[in-house]
Amino acid sequence: MLTHLECTRCGEHYSADRPQTVCPKDGGILYARYDLPKVKRAFSAARLAGRAPTMWRYDAVLPEANPVSLGEGFTPMLPSREFPNVYIKDEGLNPTGSFKARGLAACVTMARHFGLKKLAIPSAGNAAGALAAYSAVAGLEAHIFMPQDVPMANRIECDYYGAHVTLVDGLISDCARKVAELKESESWKKEGWFDVTTTKEPYRVEGKKTMGYEVAEQLGWRMPQGIIYPTGGGVGLLGMWKAFEEMEVLGWIGSERPKMITVQAAGCAPIVKAWEEGKQSAEMWTNASTLASGLRVPKPYGDYLILDILKKSQGTAVSATDEEIVAATRDWAKNEGIFAAPEGAACLVAYRKLRASGFFKPQDTVVLFNTGTGLKYLDVLDAAQAPSRAKPAQSTKPATRQIAGIIGPY
Ligand SMILES: [Zn+2]
Repeated sequence: MLTHLECTRCGEHYSADRPQTVCPKDGGILYARYDLPKVKRAFSAARLAGRAPTMWRYDAVLPEANPVSLGEGFTPMLPSREFPNVYIKDEGLNPTGSFKARGLAACVTMARHFGLKKLAIPSAGNAAGALAAYSAVAGLEAHIFMPQDVPMANRIECDYYGAHVTLVDGLISDCARKVAELKESESWKKEGWFDVTTTKEPYRVEGKKTMGYEVAEQLGWRMPQGIIYPTGGGVGLLGMWKAFEEMEVLGWIGSERPKMITVQAAGCAPIVKAWEEGKQSAEMWTNASTLASGLRVPKPYGDYLILDILKKSQGTAVSATDEEIVAATRDWAKNEGIFAAPEGAACLVAYRKLRASGFFKPQDTVVLFNTGTGLKYLDVLDAAQAPSRAKPAQSTKPATRQIAGIIGPY
C-alpha cells in the first residue's frame, strides 16, 4: 500500500510510480510512505506467525512488486553467552553473508519492476556483492565501483556473479565520483542506467527497515533499551527508526524507543565527531583508514538523519580502534561461537565501553548487530593477526596485487 515518496528535508511528495533518486529541490533523501491506517485494518502482527522466515513476511509494509529474493532476512537473534540481556542479531547468515542483502533485494526488486537495465553502485565491498547477486537473479547488469583494497571475497564474488567491476584507487567517496562521471555520459539515459548508491534511491532503506520489524517481532513486540549498530552509510539505522515509527502507527508497538547507538572505527568516525561537537551534519573525514572496510565511509549522505535519530532516541556515538575491533572479533568467536565481520565486532567494543561508563545497566536489553560474516574478511583478519607481517593491519595491498592477475582484468 505504497502511496508516495516523501522528502526527509522539505516534506515534498513525489510519485512512487517511477524511478526516483533524491529530492530535486534540496537533495534530501526520499522515504517511501504507505497508507498505514489501511494496512492496520487489513493486517495484524498476529498474522505474521507461520509466514516464510524471510524479510518478505513484512510485505504489507513493502512496495507491491514481485520480489527478487534469495531468502534474505529473519536472521537469528542470539542471546549472548557472555552478557545476560544482550542479543546478537546475526546478519552474517543472510545471502551473500551480510545485511546488505536486505537493502539490495528491495532495491533490485524495484529496479526490475521499473524496467531498469543497468545498475551502478559505489561500494565499500559487501553492498557490491549483494547487488551483484541480486542482479544475477533479476537478469540485470550490475556495474560496481569499489576500492581496490576491498576484502578479497568482495572482488571474487562480484566476478563470479558476472558483475562489471571497476577497482578504484581510493575510498568509497572516490568510487561515488566515478559513478557521478558515468551519469554525465551519453549512454546513461539511453541504456536504462540507474544509480543505486546508498540512500540516493528510496528502496534500500525499505529493505533494511525489516531489521527493525524483526527486532520487535523476535523480542515479542517489546522494544530493547538499546541497539548498537556499526554505521558506515547508516541505512540500517535510518530503516530501523522508520520501522519503529510505522509499527507504532500500526499499533504493533507503543511509543517507546531503544537508544540508538552508532559505532564507527576510530580511523573513520565522522558521525562520532559530529555527535561530540553537537553538529547536525558530518564533515568529510580525511585519510579514512580502518580494516573494517564497511565503516570506511568518510561522509554518509544520510548524516543529518543519523544524527537526528541519535538525538531523538537519547542514544550516542562511540568509536573503536582497529586493535579493539580485532580483539573483539576473536572474543566473539571464542565466547559466542560467532565469527563476525569486524564491523559487527565493533558493537562489542561499544557495548563494553557503554557498560563501563554506566550508559547501559546490566539489566538493559541491548541488541548488537553483527552485520556480516567474518568469512568475507579472511585476508583482512589474517593480515591483522599474522605476527610475521610487520605492516599495519589495514594494509592488504600485496594480496590485492597477487590475486589481480588471476581474477582480472578489471
Ligand atoms: Zn526536499
